Amino acid sequence: MNNKLTEKRIYDVLIVGSGVAGMYGALQFDENTDVLLLAKYGKDVSNSNLAQGGIAAVLDLEDDSYDLHVQDTMIAGGQANDIEAVDTLVREGPDDVRIIMEQMGVDFDRNDDGTLDKTLEGGHCRRRIMHYKDSTGAEMVRKLIAETEKRKNIEFSCDTTLYSLSRVKSGFRADIIKNGELASVFCSYCILCTGGIGRIYKYTTNPKTATGDGIRIAYELGAKIKDLSYIQFHPTAFNSEDGEQFLISESVRGEGAVLKNCKKERFMHRYDERLELAPRDVVSKSIILESRRTGSNNFYLDITHEDGDFIKWRFPGIYQGCMRYGVDMTKDLVPIFPCQHYLMGGIETDLDAKTTVPRLYAAGECANTGVHGKNRLASNSLLEALVFSRRAAQDIKRCIAAGFPAVTEYPSPLEQPENGAPVPKGLKAEIRSILQRSYFVLPDHGAVRSGLRQIDNILKRLKGGSYAITTDFCEALSMATNAYIILKEVDDR
Ligand SMILES: Cc1cc2nc3c(=O)[nH]c(=O)nc-3n(C[C@H](O)[C@H](O)[C@H](O)COP(=O)(O)OP(=O)(O)OC[C@H]3O[C@@H](n4cnc5c(N)ncnc54)[C@H](O)[C@@H]3O)c2cc1C
Repeated sequence: MNNKLTEKRIYDVLIVGSGVAGMYGALQFDENTDVLLLAKYGKDVSNSNLAQGGIAAVLDLEDDSYDLHVQDTMIAGGQANDIEAVDTLVREGPDDVRIIMEQMGVDFDRNDDGTLDKTLEGGHCRRRIMHYKDSTGAEMVRKLIAETEKRKNIEFSCDTTLYSLSRVKSGFRADIIKNGELASVFCSYCILCTGGIGRIYKYTTNPKTATGDGIRIAYELGAKIKDLSYIQFHPTAFNSEDGEQFLISESVRGEGAVLKNCKKERFMHRYDERLELAPRDVVSKSIILESRRTGSNNFYLDITHEDGDFIKWRFPGIYQGCMRYGVDMTKDLVPIFPCQHYLMGGIETDLDAKTTVPRLYAAGECANTGVHGKNRLASNSLLEALVFSRRAAQDIKRCIAAGFPAVTEYPSPLEQPENGAPVPKGLKAEIRSILQRSYFVLPDHGAVRSGLRQIDNILKRLKGGSYAITTDFCEALSMATNAYIILKEVDDR
């Protein structure tokens, strides 16, 4: 059943995305509900798989409280968060974390006495972040994939791209690209879990999946998109000569690393009294302001004062990543610079992950639940993916139990245009350059205005031309649509 779209064409639920949100959502349904779960590339190619630092949750109330986690989340989000959504996240999340540990076998690091080894990250006032070394996401993804493979009601199809959705009676027609072919399937409910938009930037920590397809598809269906310009720029991506940007987790600063400027001097005291543990947006802006002050983009993370064996044990992936560039973080300063990392905005959803389009849900990074406000608190997004994908599934189960009709209309599939052309070479790179130039950490309003005109032209070209419907075309269209909405929002502000 794996990795192939069967002859079956009608499903109860279509879930688009095999990150933590998509898989955990799929696992909520029992054997009576047919679920089609899609991954655009491999099952484990996702932002989820790259998550390093951990997952934040208040698992014991001795030294921590829900109110403190709510408070930290609201402070990081600039008080622009939806308090009800934050409350739901913080109070329900701990049970989801227990479920993935106890029922799905997810391992988190433990101390010698068997208690969970909780770490600290910027913006948290307590050690409440569970982690698996520095590859928490990969551990979660591995275990969730194993669980989905046990379920007969889940058809897991990778290398399968959702290109578009259209509304039909009691459900949707989903136009899908698999093995270069266009096919249509029908579903009564759909949960979009397509992740972020990082790949519309030149410098990002996100993998190739992150082109905002779900957001574009929801937008085309008429769903409300909210705060798409609330983008998180992580302050510490490894700054290599070749432009490779891998993340140096916040938890490295949580374990004592400090930031230094081109003169190898600490500078955070000039910008925020929380120093290196200020929230991400504050640290990223501080780096940009310091770069303007010093006239240099050279910045470093310094953890050389900590024990070398501890560093190698605690951050094996990051240590190896740096070593690939000849940087030994136990002895050397690590070159860093901000890069695009996370999307707070997205498809507007309510507490049940419902979008403004009936029967369409969104969860995880592509959704805007209101949890993060203007800036996500570190390690809250894996938790959000669990809580709100579960709530989406619970709502769908309630609808099915209440006897809502299943999809009954099956119009003919979308067809490829005759002699459709490939996406023009360099077009995706052009979109990335425009975004990088106009809105990176701090917007450049002149560049935003000219960028908007350029993106508008690209969109007209893509929509007006006769292009083959491929994954490449789907991604180019999604990138341009997301870029347009983001720049328009920044320009209107
Ligand atoms: C380097 C890095 C480190 C991070 N560290 C942390 C951390 O420590 N803690 C934390 O809480 N968060 C962290 N995050 C953020 C967190 O990983 C993500 O926000 C979260 O995992 C998103 O999960 P998701 O399921 O919504 O999306 P993803 O995990 O990105 O999954 C998206 C899925 O959608 C699929 N998809 C996309 N478009 C289509 C399409 N058109 N058709 C079919 N399928 C499609 C993709 O193939 C993929 O399977 C990190 C992110 C990165 C990039």
